[in-house]
Amino acid sequence: MNAPLVATLGLARHYRTGRGVLRALDGVDLSIDRGETLGLVGESGSGKSTLGRTLVGLQAPTHGSVLFDGADTAGLRGDALRALRRRRQLVFQDPSGALNPRMTLGATLREHLRVQGWTRAAVRERVPDVLEQAGLPAAFAGRYPHEISGGQRQRAVIARAISTDPDFIVADEPVSALDVSTRAQIINLLRGLQRARGLTMLFISHDLSVVAHTCRHVAVMYLGRIVEVAPREVLFATPRHPYTAALLSAVPVPDPVRERQRGRILLVGETPDPSSPPSGCRFHPRCPLASGICAQVDPPMRSLAPGHTAACHHSDKVGSVEAVAQAARGLTALG
Ligand code: ADP
Ligand code: MG
Repeated sequence: MNAPLVATLGLARHYRTGRGVLRALDGVDLSIDRGETLGLVGESGSGKSTLGRTLVGLQAPTHGSVLFDGADTAGLRGDALRALRRRRQLVFQDPSGALNPRMTLGATLREHLRVQGWTRAAVRERVPDVLEQAGLPAAFAGRYPHEISGGQRQRAVIARAISTDPDFIVADEPVSALDVSTRAQIINLLRGLQRARGLTMLFISHDLSVVAHTCRHVAVMYLGRIVEVAPREVLFATPRHPYTAALLSAVPVPDPVRERQRGRILLVGETPDPSSPPSGCRFHPRCPLASGICAQVDPPMRSLAPGHTAACHHSDKVGSVEAVAQAARGLTALG
């Protein structure tokens, strides 16, 4: 049995703002098995980056816990905490912002390793090695970030992330800032590293089609909560949360006839303010299937099949994009 490497229990991260308490994460239970890549999708502002940063320890939870290798990370101090830092790393969305413009790639890598306690001699050997693993010539150690392309900068960020030989990597929209021609290369690099090293990964994207190519399992986030988790094929064929169906309906399919049949689910209204989430199910004001109970009772995550969970009172009525699209058309016709 494959035990989870990373798990959260009732994880919450709140921010104090001028308008009160913003609930960026508000009760997330998630687990990622060792060696698995979990895709995390959801629209902008749903809390994906906050979850990623909390999972690698760059931010502390407000409530709940992050478990790493079975241990609650909140209790770790000293050597155990240093070891944990080595074992979990983040690859950022924008490689330009993630690299110090005044440092060569070599200096950036050396500093990262020295902070983790590596000796000078070990660092000297390590730097050319990780550059090559990230698909960069060893001679790039002498280059500054502005002297290389965006794709190469993202390779440098990946080199830094793998330099400490981590077990877990959060890749937060790792290709969103890159032009289309380099995206596939960076995705392939991450997949190759994941396989070769048996890495566990959280791959964050606002784009379901990017995740579809990369991840065996997908989690869908809405307003600080995970609303559905399923194996990729299952999620695409039989979504059980209306929000997932809406995201799927926006993914282009090659066949235009099939696309018309499938229908497009246009959600009404804006994403609500995470400072005052709606009562009951947070998705109910925008949901084509919403009924009375949805405004009152927060639906718990329910297990529907092995590896498939969803938080919806009407998950038995979802099952396909078409079903939700039909309900949405019904509402438009009534209104
Ligand atoms: P995503 O990555 O899905 O776009 P984020 O995790 O970046 O979402 O943000 C989730 C919510 O938390 C948003 O409403 C965002 O404005 C808010 N947020 C994120 N970081 C902070 C912060 N440091 N202070 C206040 N609010 C924040
Ligand atoms: Mg983000």
